[in-house]
Amino acid sequence: MWEDVATAIAKKTQTSFVLHSESNIAGGCINEARRLESTTGEVYFAKANSAGFLRLFEAEAKALTEIASTRTVRVPDPVCHGISGDRSFLVMEFLETSRDGGSAQRKLGQDLARLHRMEQPHFGWKIDNAIGATNQPNPASDDWIEFYREHRLIHQFELAQKKGQFFQGIELLLERLPNFFSEYKPIPSLLHGDLWGGNFACDTEGQPYVFDPASYYGDREADIAFTYMFGGFSTEFYKGYEEIFPLDPGFEIRKNLYNLYHELNHYNLFGGEYARSAQSSINHLLAYSP
Ligand code: ADP
Repeated sequence: MWEDVATAIAKKTQTSFVLHSESNIAGGCINEARRLESTTGEVYFAKANSAGFLRLFEAEAKALTEIASTRTVRVPDPVCHGISGDRSFLVMEFLETSRDGGSAQRKLGQDLARLHRMEQPHFGWKIDNAIGATNQPNPASDDWIEFYREHRLIHQFELAQKKGQFFQGIELLLERLPNFFSEYKPIPSLLHGDLWGGNFACDTEGQPYVFDPASYYGDREADIAFTYMFGGFSTEFYKGYEEIFPLDPGFEIRKNLYNLYHELNHYNLFGGEYARSAQSSINHLLAYSP
């Protein structure tokens, strides 16, 4: 299939990209990833999966294009996507990684804050995408609380129910959602949507970049909350973010509300312990908002 991908690159870039070598790249969660090098030394990054993933590769390419257009946080430029036999693929600019040169995390925080500060026309997005391998619905909405209730929490609760997992206190929590927003009105920001430590790196000049987005227009706090779930972001990152776009004090409790979505999603993808963390977040949130 990589020969077909090379042909697609040649067509899109209007060059004679002839594949010289392809090497495996580890670190992804879902897709097969490759470094593709031409006989003349051009290099691209490509991901592949079953043909059904084409829709998700299209969504990823759209998100990369849209983030790039803000000229804030850096992302790899998408090149092309398509089908080869029973496989689908996405090709993008190859970014060489280096070690964090020290200031990269602060710059990443600042760049992300600049992205979040640009107000978008509504919540949701232009198309649905995926968070991990789970469908992520993004219908346009002017009501963030309703959007988050319906298309983030209820969506994941229903998937969990299909696996036979029920959580206590769900109805109460869903009913009380407005309590968490009594003194805070989120604006729609373009989110990365899957900002864990494995989805950022810095290039050989020490410039940070992010990749593998699950973008939509949402409360920026959802992006920041997720950076805490698995760690990997330094105090410099949060300092950089606050310098440009300080967080509201109510973020501390809403952080749990936003990470509940990811805990439920992790339960739906991987099962096990995540059900327990989701239940303890629900309990914690209900205790905050009796
Ligand atoms: P998946 O969709 O399977 O989660 P990722 O998009 O996270 O895959 O990519 C897998 C790995 O490839 C990442 O952990 C990162 O190290 C590397 N990578 C991602 N994007 C690029 C890129 N544009 N250039 C070079 N390496 C990349």
